[in-house]
Amino acid sequence: MKALIDLQKCTACGVCQDVCPVGAITVLETHAEVSDDCTLCGMCVDTCEFQAITLPEVGSGAAADAATYKGVWA
Ligand code: SF4
Ligand code: SF4
Repeated sequence: MKALIDLQKCTACGVCQDVCPVGAITVLETHAEVSDDCTLCGMCVDTCEFQAITLPEVGSGAAADAATYKGVWA
């Protein structure tokens, strides 16, 4: 999974590209693109003044897993 760019909102301003610690964002002519190097750190999300970046919804996998460990003190 990786950060998602809303192509309708992105203006290709390039701000997010400088913020990403792993260099996962490339700004093309019309919009930014996120590569598979994205670690979902979330740093780019707040830097986009156009709210064009979102993180994918994370499922409730961890909670469901914990529920299967009956009788184990965690
Ligand atoms: S900061 Fe937002 S508008 Fe600017 S290039 Fe990144 S995603 Fe697009
Ligand atoms: S979520 Fe983090 S790693 Fe992914 S593109 Fe944004 S700044 Fe880079």
